Amino acid sequence: MKTTQLLIPTQKEAPNDAKIISHQLMIRAGLISKLASGLYSYLPMGVRVLKKVEAIVREEMDKAGSQEVLMPVTQPSELWQESGRWDEYGPELLRFHDRHGREFCMGPTHEEVITNLAAQYIRSYKQLPMSFYQIQTKFRDEIRPRFGVMRSREFIMKDAYSFHLDQESLQKTYDAMHQTYCNIFDRLGLDYRSVLADSGSIGGDASHEFHVLAQSGEDAICFSDESDYAANIEKVAFSKQANICSPKAQETEVLTKKKSSIEEVADFLSVEKSICIKTLIIKVVGGFKALALRGDHELNEIKAQNLLGEFELASDEDIKSLGLKKGFIGVKGLDIELIVDYSASALCDFVCGANEWDKHLTGANWKGIEFVEADLRNATEGDESPDGQGKLVIKRGIEVGHIFQLGDKYSKAMKANVIGESGKAVTTTMGCYGIGVTRVIAASIEQNYDDRGIIFPEAIAPFQVVIVPINYNKSTRVKDLADKLYQQYLKAGIEVLLDDRKERAGIMFADSELLGIPHRIVLSDTHADNGMVEYKARNNAEKLEVHYDEALSFIQSQLL
Ligand code: ATP
Ligand code: MG
Repeated sequence: MKTTQLLIPTQKEAPNDAKIISHQLMIRAGLISKLASGLYSYLPMGVRVLKKVEAIVREEMDKAGSQEVLMPVTQPSELWQESGRWDEYGPELLRFHDRHGREFCMGPTHEEVITNLAAQYIRSYKQLPMSFYQIQTKFRDEIRPRFGVMRSREFIMKDAYSFHLDQESLQKTYDAMHQTYCNIFDRLGLDYRSVLADSGSIGGDASHEFHVLAQSGEDAICFSDESDYAANIEKVAFSKQANICSPKAQETEVLTKKKSSIEEVADFLSVEKSICIKTLIIKVVGGFKALALRGDHELNEIKAQNLLGEFELASDEDIKSLGLKKGFIGVKGLDIELIVDYSASALCDFVCGANEWDKHLTGANWKGIEFVEADLRNATEGDESPDGQGKLVIKRGIEVGHIFQLGDKYSKAMKANVIGESGKAVTTTMGCYGIGVTRVIAASIEQNYDDRGIIFPEAIAPFQVVIVPINYNKSTRVKDLADKLYQQYLKAGIEVLLDDRKERAGIMFADSELLGIPHRIVLSDTHADNGMVEYKARNNAEKLEVHYDEALSFIQSQLL
């Protein structure tokens, strides 16, 4: 295509609300345009990139034997009532009424619709396993839409769902889908990790997230510096440690006036936070409990919730009513159940609150204290890897994909049964598999940019090659040579952009670099005098002179 035929509204400045590089560059390169909070239009260059990502996803899903379907964005509330999610799903679910007063929602995901389809059309075990996918718009009324299309309210997802007779079959498809995801993210040129994940509100057992490694990532992921172990920080499970330390100190009550935070106390007593114990009081159904953790560790709310059910931190009044002194709560003499994190219960000669105002204990030990032990904390950098190999490293990640084994959560509630081999009805078992198609674009840019703009990998660049003729509108020789080369490229099936604008060379260079087009050919009268063109790759500063006659074969040899 020619630049004059296209809307490529590049801009020098990024809007104020664009906090991360991908958001800034997607706006500046004219890929997207903001309509309202969390709502973006894809402009022509953005659509070209989007279509490329979609094509890769589609090809790999087809290869995996999944069938493409297209389900409505608008979903009737009855289906969500059947699955039980109408009440469960929070305000992210956009609900509305039609003119007849019937309730609907905008689909944030499609388990209900696909399970309803399966219940209607999959009748016999002979049809199983079967899997479906779609590439389609989702709506989630995110509390804080931000980072452009990274966390928007309307976005495009590839969602897939599989139906099985038993767990073994589900596991097989799940593993195949894991491989398909690796193939997709490899082809997209992303530096990513597959990590063990928490399956969250969607339910089910096994789950992996695919994270693109980037500083701006919203999630912390942990991996071993020696083995393949990788998990979402929330999911890193620790087991009870061997007690290696033996108490030596004498328990002493010390005055720690007004020093109530772990930092203040550790500082005041000149000890490491890791030998201090913090005690949190939480409110659970039917009462209160105390949780004890090492001072340098953080409570993992998901682990605590899995263990104790829904809970919240006790208020100041609650703490008072229990006769406890906020900031000086310890582990001795509590009237409520005490649950101690494994790494806190492995301590000896520790510091903790004395359960009296302005006082802490040093040289404290667990002897004589009643408690239960549990895994309650988040992983920290340098922890032993749970597989026993190496130490944990923590990096930031952007979640671009998520696969779950759903079990029969939806199929049971929505009666997706088949006639089994024995003639009896069997509830199917399900898997679901999502990729944030639009988020992938932003994630790719987070990994591929420099101070001039985007450096798209060839697989998703809006064009493969840009021809920049200098004085295209003045020199007929340059124009003829550029037009001829452009035609040759088109004929050879190369996606080429001819910059035919009456612009200064600097502007044309800057725009193509901002857009991240991988290969650039420059043509000028000077080059023409020597029968040459100039070639430059977007990801390499070196410029090469190439014979005009070889400009096609040269580019072909550069393309993947
Ligand atoms: P997140 O934790 O980032 O909110 P999620 O766990 O809610 O993601 P899923 O329900 O698993 O996401 O959706 C599948 C994929 O859709 C995610 O892996 C992500 O790539 C993408 N996605 C989810 N929410 C958004 C959003 N608001 N904007 C863009 N992409 C999203
Ligand atoms: Mg979400």
